[in-house]
Amino acid sequence: MSNSELHTDLRTAVRELCSRFPDAYWRKLDAQEAYPEEFVKALTEAGYLAALIPEELGGSGLGIAEASIILEEVNRSGGNSAACHAQMYIMGTLLRHGSESQRQHYLPKIANGELRLQAFGVTEPTTGTDTTQMKTVAVRKGDRYLVNGQKVWISRVEYSDLMLLVARTTPLEEVKKKTDGLSVLLVDLKSAIGNGMTVVPIRAMINHATTEVFFDNLEVPVENRIGEEGKGFRYLLDGLNAERILIAAECVGDGRWFVDRACKYAGDRVVFGRPIGQNQGIQFPIARAHVNVEAADLMRIRAAELFDSDLPCGAEANMAKLLAADASWEAANVTMQTYGGFGFAEEYDIERKFRETRLYQTAPISTNLILSYIGQHVLGMPRSF
Ligand SMILES: Cc1cc2nc3c(=O)[nH]c(=O)nc-3n(C[C@H](O)[C@H](O)[C@H](O)COP(=O)(O)OP(=O)(O)OC[C@H]3O[C@@H](n4cnc5c(N)ncnc54)[C@H](O)[C@@H]3O)c2cc1C
Repeated sequence: MSNSELHTDLRTAVRELCSRFPDAYWRKLDAQEAYPEEFVKALTEAGYLAALIPEELGGSGLGIAEASIILEEVNRSGGNSAACHAQMYIMGTLLRHGSESQRQHYLPKIANGELRLQAFGVTEPTTGTDTTQMKTVAVRKGDRYLVNGQKVWISRVEYSDLMLLVARTTPLEEVKKKTDGLSVLLVDLKSAIGNGMTVVPIRAMINHATTEVFFDNLEVPVENRIGEEGKGFRYLLDGLNAERILIAAECVGDGRWFVDRACKYAGDRVVFGRPIGQNQGIQFPIARAHVNVEAADLMRIRAAELFDSDLPCGAEANMAKLLAADASWEAANVTMQTYGGFGFAEEYDIERKFRETRLYQTAPISTNLILSYIGQHVLGMPRSF
């Protein structure tokens, strides 16, 4: 099967699955701040969340291009991949840097849905984007680490079995480079919560199952460390291009959903005796948003091609994320404007998707941090931090 046939078949199949979870499903969850359990189960059973896990470990061994199509189609259907996207990109840390026994133990169970690896603990309240300054420590005591500290905005912890946790194992004062001394630990959430780990949900603008997490002498077996001690920052960087490309695809999905809705509404809504879309003041902003979404998609496809060919793609992956997040946000704004007052009514889903797509200006990486990557690492301008 050629790549384009595979992609068409995959799109059709994901669309079919998503059609079982219509707007009303997501709207109700949003109102109740509930997790899309049924949807995530269906996606897992269909094997989509295991797209990037190699076949010999129970997954489908697909590339980032295909994985990104899955997430794009979820968002294009009106749903929200954020409920489950993390597994796709954080699993790579375990796949690339885990020991053979860790890979054999966890990945087949993640692939068949027995275990969920949906939580990723990096961000902290006092240090934010400045990751190397994190205060959470993991101190080795024999065959265990004792973890103390605090994380914030850690999503899906309550709906996951495992969490990848980043903590400092060597104090900042004792390392040559500030990026040294961080380690990645795989935390078994079922045994950790209530035994050194406390989870406090955060009420947020979007339904994202996000939480604050506190560690008070949480014990993590040394055998749960992924890769070498102190090399965690490098492992984090390794996963970023995949994350950027997948998020870009979600934004493209959102952007297309908004443009579809805006076009339809502009054609249907009659004011002053004609469809509002006949007015170029309504038509042109929608056309421009469409152009920008499609242009961002080209960069996302380019980045995915490079990634899947094992070629450097840092610049393209970051540019794709920036362009796609901006395009989806532009499309969201334009659609709100096209809908007039009805854009604010929950029953049309515009306000929900508007809130959801706004996240990508800030998380998992903010627009400014992408611009600083492009400025410093792609264009060679002076470092600002
Ligand atoms: C809904 C939600 C879910 C999340 N889920 C997770 C998760 O599962 N796991 C996890 O680890 N994290 C998660 N995050 C955290 C997210 O990754 C961070 O919020 C994001 O990286 C920004 O960090 P911060 O909030 O600490 O902002 P800060 O670092 O405090 O920055 C605030 C603002 O200042 C800007 N800024 C900071 N420094 C500079 C500079 N030098 N130059 C220019 N601008 C600068 C930033 O771009 C940002 O706009 C989530 C966040 C949200 C809102």
